[in-house]
Amino acid sequence: MGQQQNYDYIIVGAGSAGCVLANRLSANPDNKVLLLEAGRPDYRIDFRIHMPAALTYLLTDSTYNWLYESEPEPNMHNRRIAQPRGKVLGGSSSINGMIYIRGNALDYEKWANDHGLTKWDYAHCLPYFRKCETRLKGQDDYHGNNGPLAIETAQCDNPLFSAFFDATQQAGYPLTDDVNGYQQEGFGIFDQNIYRGRRHSAARAYLHPVMNRKNLTVLTGATTDKVLFEGKTAIGVEYRKWGRKKTAYGSEIISCGGAINSPKLLQLSGVGDENTLKNLGIKPVHHLPGVGENLQDHLELYVQYECKEPVSMYPALKYHNQPKIGFDWLFRRKGAAATNHFEAGGFVRGNEDVLYPNLQFHFLPLAIRYDGSAPNKGHGFQLHVGPMNTDVRGHVKIRSTNRMRSQRSSLTTYPRHKSVKSGSKRSVSLAISSPSQRLIICVAKSFHRAARLRRIKRSSTLSREKGKVPITQAVPVKWALKVMRWRW
Ligand SMILES: Cc1cc2nc3c(=O)[nH]c(=O)nc-3n(C[C@H](O)[C@H](O)[C@H](O)COP(=O)(O)OP(=O)(O)OC[C@H]3O[C@@H](n4cnc5c(N)ncnc54)[C@H](O)[C@@H]3O)c2cc1C
Repeated sequence: MGQQQNYDYIIVGAGSAGCVLANRLSANPDNKVLLLEAGRPDYRIDFRIHMPAALTYLLTDSTYNWLYESEPEPNMHNRRIAQPRGKVLGGSSSINGMIYIRGNALDYEKWANDHGLTKWDYAHCLPYFRKCETRLKGQDDYHGNNGPLAIETAQCDNPLFSAFFDATQQAGYPLTDDVNGYQQEGFGIFDQNIYRGRRHSAARAYLHPVMNRKNLTVLTGATTDKVLFEGKTAIGVEYRKWGRKKTAYGSEIISCGGAINSPKLLQLSGVGDENTLKNLGIKPVHHLPGVGENLQDHLELYVQYECKEPVSMYPALKYHNQPKIGFDWLFRRKGAAATNHFEAGGFVRGNEDVLYPNLQFHFLPLAIRYDGSAPNKGHGFQLHVGPMNTDVRGHVKIRSTNRMRSQRSSLTTYPRHKSVKSGSKRSVSLAISSPSQRLIICVAKSFHRAARLRRIKRSSTLSREKGKVPITQAVPVKWALKVMRWRW
């Protein structure tokens, strides 16, 4: 066993949560804080992290990504579903899509009403959203201008975005000024976690400005293998740095490893379902079967189309154009590399039974796979769609105590089809059928020479039922917000 160290707080994982906590806890000079990160630093010269358009590199590179996968999914032809997770300072906020989206106001109301978390309703959360951000476009009732996190509103200057917004209206959906503001429902321009053309991760916003605090120690390349317990009280951690085992003790141990790595660390430390742990030869410290259960994810599908008008971002993928794009980004912080290209999208209700949007769309003026390759050589565009608020649940279970095996192998599974309740099934099928196809058709109409499109009849879900709000009309969130304002 190596050296021992003592702290007030030990934070495992320097991702979104870990960076915020490290900042806030070390603001009190009396607190001695240790932040442990398994990944490497987010070097300023590392263009893969800081150039917004380079995000596809990060999705396939084990230097920055834990690259988890699901177990083979029996209802998806045994495919394993990719589960990228950031492994670098900033965690997933250093590899993510940089779209700045809050939940719907009614999500927070649901927490308050259904789970008795009365201080987590929207009226209580909104001041914290405002506190954390500086929206460069300016502050209003929903946005702050004095927080560490810079929020830029996208430019949407590619002509395909105008076609997309025309399309959403032709399809009968409203536009909205701000999906994080007064009205989420509808389509509009997205805000981004980008500042002066560079990714503004949680590490850049919260950690780097305070890295020189004497009471904060940040260790990268430091993987925590185990939480140490005295009885059922966590008293420290065992971690590895440069292959050497070390121990640190703390009054509080805070696991910020994210949705997959936090339950994994707890299970490796003996906290979880007793029988599962015993089968793997782990001595149980605390029988807590809920650890790793109720995993929620949002499957996303993207539909790609060829676009015969030569207006998409496709030329940016060509090698001979990249030196100029790189130059513009490096020296002017502008151009095709200074954006994530997920500049527009929206939120709609897939059917009239739901009170607020259950489908999310992103529009990209480019057809591209997640690994950065183009599906065909030529101009294209794509629409991403995914259900939200799904009642589908999965789990995270370690399969081995072997470090390499448990890190490299599958940890998650999606539930079997039987457990998918009809609501979710319906939203998935609606997602890939009516709203997205209607939108694609309308985009195509705007660029009427776009290829490979078939006309599709209007979906029956558009039929109005008495007492229900048609899905093409945004209303309920506005009402709810009025009520909330009154409650402040
Ligand atoms: C590909 C991708 C795209 C996304 N796009 C968006 C988007 O556009 N907009 C949006 O709002 N959200 C997006 N998200 C989600 C968002 O980034 C995450 O919800 C958020 O960053 C999670 O924060 P976290 O602190 O819980 O975990 P993370 O940010 O993942 O941080 C966990 C950190 O803990 C470290 N760690 C884990 N285990 C250990 C250990 N044992 N020892 C030491 N360190 C450890 C990890 O290396 C990591 O740095 C995306 C996520 C991904 C993966």
